[in-house]
Amino acid sequence: MSNKRFATKLVHGGFTPDGQTGAVNVPIYQTSTYRQKKLGEPTGGWEYSRTGNPTRAALEKLIAELEGGEAGFAFASGMAAISAVLMLFNAGDKILVSSNVYGGTFRVLDKVFTRFGLKYELVDSTKLNNIEEKIDSSVKAIYIETPTNPLLEITDLRGVAEISKKHGILSIVDNTFMTPYLQRPIELGIDIVVHSATKYLGGHSDLIAGLAIVANGTGLADRLAFIQNSTGGVLQPFDSFLLIRGIRTLGVRMDRHVSNTEKIVSYLINEPAVNRVYYPGHPSDPGYSLNLTQASKGGAMLSFELAPGYSPEKFLENLNLIMLAESLGGVESLVCHPASMTHASIPADIRKKIGISDGLLRLSVGIEDADDLIDDIKQALEASRR
Ligand SMILES: *Cc1c(COP(=O)(O)O)cnc(C)c1O
Repeated sequence: MSNKRFATKLVHGGFTPDGQTGAVNVPIYQTSTYRQKKLGEPTGGWEYSRTGNPTRAALEKLIAELEGGEAGFAFASGMAAISAVLMLFNAGDKILVSSNVYGGTFRVLDKVFTRFGLKYELVDSTKLNNIEEKIDSSVKAIYIETPTNPLLEITDLRGVAEISKKHGILSIVDNTFMTPYLQRPIELGIDIVVHSATKYLGGHSDLIAGLAIVANGTGLADRLAFIQNSTGGVLQPFDSFLLIRGIRTLGVRMDRHVSNTEKIVSYLINEPAVNRVYYPGHPSDPGYSLNLTQASKGGAMLSFELAPGYSPEKFLENLNLIMLAESLGGVESLVCHPASMTHASIPADIRKKIGISDGLLRLSVGIEDADDLIDDIKQALEASRR
């Protein structure tokens, strides 16, 4: 598949129709173990499904091809994938982490991995100087998200890759918001990519899954395979099948997600009830030009701040089509209120300082008709005037 264009890889990657039946989809190998012909000779190399399962293996091959890595690993959730990657490090090692990192990533670092001696430090990665300043001999990795949640700030991926190479440390990118359809960090020099495949890759809000992909020549593939098999947070065969099915349509879904988002942003920018729009795909956004050097589009996540005369509570209550929910990346549009949901654990004064006001709303734009989404936002804004 390596010589094919991306949309073709999405549809045909990871699996070729099997010789016995010609089935165009990978079967769901719902088995825990495999018969051995004789001692030390497992059939086709398969031994036990925590170690390896053909359905999961097809998915792992597919995501490695899509991200341009040497190997892919599928886990039971995004957090399981991220935790497995963090297990590559030792007590005493320090990881620099983007300051607006996903809450669950912060939590597992702060409450679990620190108990085992792993250290972390938050850094505003949008300025490369901030990263470089913090590097000392204990720092073994830089972990970033771009765009960040919920303000969609952009970090220079090539810059991060360069800094980490210069200092001989690893670079890790959570590529959940962009997907390999829009952004491929490994091609820009990043060592490890992680995903919550629960979001766009699955794409239908019907499964929880995580993926990790390692770049060629890093020596990480064997180490991560060892951790995956040793700690066991693997993705099940049925969910692996569902995730492959989701990935097959990623291209057409992302095209629609993005074009809907661009239409909604054009509307919101001229809407008097809205103070400010955050979307790296719009030329007015501070991250716009940098994003275009490393991603093909601005994605389908946007945030906006209501003008003072409008109530976020009333706005959310009055939406009919767009649903109030955690999560993102599904075919249906979802809205969330960061101040009281994803970022509620941050004290109000700090929230305000980092730009997460009480009037801020985050939208995961689905693939419905854009005009229906705009109509829904319009009527909810009218109903939310204080
Ligand atoms: C949801 C999410 C995660 C966690 O993934 P789960 O599948 O929920 O475990 C990690 N990173 C980002 C950016 C996410 O949005």
